[in-house]
Amino acid sequence: MNANNTASIFCITNQKGGVGKTTTAINLAAALAALDKRVLLIDLDPQGNATMGSGVDKNAADVNLYQVLLGEAGIAQARVKSEAGGYDVLPSNRELSGAEIDLIEMDDRERQLKNAIAQIADDYDFVLIDCPPTLSLLTLNGLSSAHGVIIPMQCEYFALEGLSDLVNTIKRVYNNLNPDLRLIGLLRVMFDARVTLQQQVSAQIVSHFGDRVFETIVPRNVRLAEAPSHGLPGIVYDKSSRGAKAYVEFGNELIRRVKKEALRLQARPRI
Ligand code: ATP
Ligand code: MG
Repeated sequence: MNANNTASIFCITNQKGGVGKTTTAINLAAALAALDKRVLLIDLDPQGNATMGSGVDKNAADVNLYQVLLGEAGIAQARVKSEAGGYDVLPSNRELSGAEIDLIEMDDRERQLKNAIAQIADDYDFVLIDCPPTLSLLTLNGLSSAHGVIIPMQCEYFALEGLSDLVNTIKRVYNNLNPDLRLIGLLRVMFDARVTLQQQVSAQIVSHFGDRVFETIVPRNVRLAEAPSHGLPGIVYDKSSRGAKAYVEFGNELIRRVKKEALRLQARPRI
């Protein structure tokens, strides 16, 4: 990871919908930017929530991720600054759902995003990719581009069951498309410590995945949910909220983990 001083590239993914991927992507981007890191947030979801939640109008851009994936534009032309968050955004909107079909015709269709990122990777310390809740060709492009996967998850009854499918997909991508890919960690989000079941599931996750579970736990916090309607990352909207503080702590933890992993570069990446 970060072998040549270029960006560490992470996918924020979970094939389950509504688990906090986009909230994590936006707030992690803003937290890393606040820690003086150069960050690009790629919105790989046609819903465009990461774009809008960064204060960028998803329908205003002339070029966006769709043209980038089809090789019609570079990221350098399509990126937009999130003034609110202090990071760059590669925006998306519903046009992107057409890319799925257009890509099928192309050679190297799983690596279009990887090739595009390679041209600008030196501009950033971190590239974060907000994935859609599917295991589609779009998500495969994300996973093929990344050094690592960050999985936000809620501590609910079926959480572990869904995880095994995702871990198998990551292993398949690792074996067939991207030998750099590894599971960076699981992030417990929307956590309510008063709910006994959540504590039990949290303990189960730790016993299954050990040090692959981030120490930071993001609480359920209404300020994080309110922020996108103001076009602001939660950590900017109310930086004293418990949710904001958790994401800043997570940014720090990720930076520490990246440094530690870089020291192990000679070792084979492990999933
Ligand atoms: P999708 O699968 O549709 O892309 P997602 O996994 O990206 O969804 P989010 O959009 O981040 O999930 O979050 C789903 C909902 O939960 C949103 O309304 C968001 O504001 C809210 N939410 C996310 N994290 C928290 C939190 N820690 N506390 C309270 N609400 C949260
Ligand atoms: Mg999302």
